[in-house]
Amino acid sequence: MQRRAFLLSTSAALALPSATPAAEPLRVRLVTGGHAHDPELYQPFYGDPRFRTTVDPHPNAYRGNLVKAVDVLVQYDMVRTTDEATRKALRTFAEAGKGIVILHHAICSFPDWPWWWQEVSGGLYLNQPFEGIGPSTFHHDETIEVKVAKQHPCTQGVSGFTIYDETYNKMWISPKADVLLRTNHPKSDGPLMWVSPYQASRVVVLQLGHGREANTDPNWQRLVRNAIVFAGSKAS
Ligand SMILES: [Zn+2]
Repeated sequence: MQRRAFLLSTSAALALPSATPAAEPLRVRLVTGGHAHDPELYQPFYGDPRFRTTVDPHPNAYRGNLVKAVDVLVQYDMVRTTDEATRKALRTFAEAGKGIVILHHAICSFPDWPWWWQEVSGGLYLNQPFEGIGPSTFHHDETIEVKVAKQHPCTQGVSGFTIYDETYNKMWISPKADVLLRTNHPKSDGPLMWVSPYQASRVVVLQLGHGREANTDPNWQRLVRNAIVFAGSKAS
């Protein structure tokens, strides 16, 4: 079964099938590693002819000529630090105007690389306090009422919904982030999805998406797909 293959795909890039080939599907690379994930994470990519997706773990996902091979990076890796080769690859990718979607755990990545989280992602889960904020906290198994804060291509087809997921609180979030989704949950900062202020490429951050319940939620899946299409559509 394909599903079984996904579970075993820890070291090599793996192509996820699309139902029908589109004229020019976005070449998507889903980056895993640093944290366990459920196979349901792959569901937004199944059968969508707009995407041709490979799954690759950190740091292998960032090797090779990223600009040439990938249109949109979808990060689900959670890595405290990374090597110079990865930093260079990510910086080159971002400066080339390519799309970046940062999902859930990836908001915790690269705390020792301020350019990344202050300029590119526009947010960071803080392991240590920063400018009077944090350290951040997380809470599993929360029922979260989500509100659309702004009509945007990333929220198209989504109205208010409830999701069973993990909250993050006391994160650093850029005051320049363009917030698209919010919650009033007391264990959350409020913003759940935003477009980063980074100008050279389109960067979308979605805090939701911890596990099976969230990954199978049709609203979450739609948000992921919308984010990929938006991030991958910057006019060159
Ligand atoms: Zn999580």
